Amino acid sequence: MVGTAKWFATSLLSLDDLNNPTWARHPEATLLHAKRTGTVGTACGRNAETWHKHWVTFDPTATPNACRACVLAVAEASRPRSGAMPFASLAR
Ligand SMILES: [Zn+2]
Repeated sequence: MVGTAKWFATSLLSLDDLNNPTWARHPEATLLHAKRTGTVGTACGRNAETWHKHWVTFDPTATPNACRACVLAVAEASRPRSGAMPFASLAR
């Protein structure tokens, strides 16, 4: 997949907790979100500062628990846009 390499998987729970059947009853807590390194927010806009980073690339095709909002946001961010940064040279 193009453009997803910069996005890491993160979630409220650690990987150990994700595998704990107790949490299966709380699907929203087991969602994998996408996050860029150096930022505190997920692609869907949640504050993930205290969440667990999994240090694997966010790959919605590899998990049934991918956050849909993150999937859409990553796809949007990955889409090439013509003239996306016309004033990049001024942004200093
Ligand atoms: Zn998300």
